[in-house]
Amino acid sequence: MIPVNTPIFNGNELKYLTECIKTGWISSEGPFIKQFEDDMAKYVGRKFGVAVSNGSAALDIALRAIGIEEGDEVIMPTFTIISPAQSIVYAGGKPVLVDADENTWCMNVSHIESKITSKTKAILVVHIYGFPTDMDPIIELANKYKLFIIEDAAEMHGQTYNGKMCGSFGHISTFSFYPNKHITTGEGGMIMTDDVLLAEKCKSYRNLCFKPERRFVHDELGWNYRMTNLQAALGVAQLENINAHIIRKREIGSIYSQLLADIPGIELMPKRTEYAENIYWVFAVICKRKSAIEMMKLLAEKGVGTRPFFYPMHMQPVFKKRGWYTNENYPVSERIAEYGFYLPSGLGITNDEIKVVTEKLKSIL
Ligand SMILES: *Cc1c(COP(=O)(O)O)cnc(C)c1O
Repeated sequence: MIPVNTPIFNGNELKYLTECIKTGWISSEGPFIKQFEDDMAKYVGRKFGVAVSNGSAALDIALRAIGIEEGDEVIMPTFTIISPAQSIVYAGGKPVLVDADENTWCMNVSHIESKITSKTKAILVVHIYGFPTDMDPIIELANKYKLFIIEDAAEMHGQTYNGKMCGSFGHISTFSFYPNKHITTGEGGMIMTDDVLLAEKCKSYRNLCFKPERRFVHDELGWNYRMTNLQAALGVAQLENINAHIIRKREIGSIYSQLLADIPGIELMPKRTEYAENIYWVFAVICKRKSAIEMMKLLAEKGVGTRPFFYPMHMQPVFKKRGWYTNENYPVSERIAEYGFYLPSGLGITNDEIKVVTEKLKSIL
């Protein structure tokens, strides 16, 4: 079986983990936490990083810290993972949805303005699979209507938009370090901002809102969303090698693209747009001959692990139950969700394995 993802640890991971065990610093109090936060802040070009237990937790905290409340609307893409939508709902707000762009599969920014109402408080940007969302028009709208920008950069470590680092846009941004991301801490996430007050709020929310002057007294409710020193040790080591990870990801994307070029019925992501080069977080294909579910089953029988595309938010049973989005259609998202899936494309895959995967895919077609 060729798994859909395998991470790599070819730097100082074991050394730093051993340091945690030898010194006894394994909880969130250990010194790697601050180092990882500072290293990420420097890498991304942000003033502050707040390490948390995963990328979904980072979004929960970010939405609350920005001040999303009961009755607020937040504009976001329908084609994404549930995490950003559920964070809006947990904060008391409602996700207002926008269809995907045909080319990049990120939010179609030309559809945003028509969704803005007097209740709109923020635009939540999610960069998808390989490309950043087209940020300039979003920044313009946010300035014009006085909206917050929240950036979910969970799939974009090291990606840039017109040369500016993803995760450095807007008032607050979030990352995940799940094992299929460009760098991993097993489970883990980070909130990033340039605003010292927001950073302090995030730190408080991740740690049960303990009052600094009197522990066990609380003005507000938070979460235990702390990252451990063990996770941060992995993160520091992984971040040392991020440039090599990104080069390899692009190489994997380029080899797949070559081997799968000119196959009728297969749609691949472009290698570049006018503002970014594809970072190939995953190598995604759209194959219109059969549904993704059927294609994935046939590939699994041949020993190839895959994952389906995201399932659009407007089609989610959990939101249908609330009576939301009943008359809303988002044709691009619906089409790519029906026919899209991704191939094994983790950092641990070998070139030989990529060849085997493409041969098996071709034999099915
Ligand atoms: C991975 C991912 C998340 C969630 O991160 P976890 O660490 O798994 O909670 C959120 N948003 C996007 C876009 C992701 O790809």
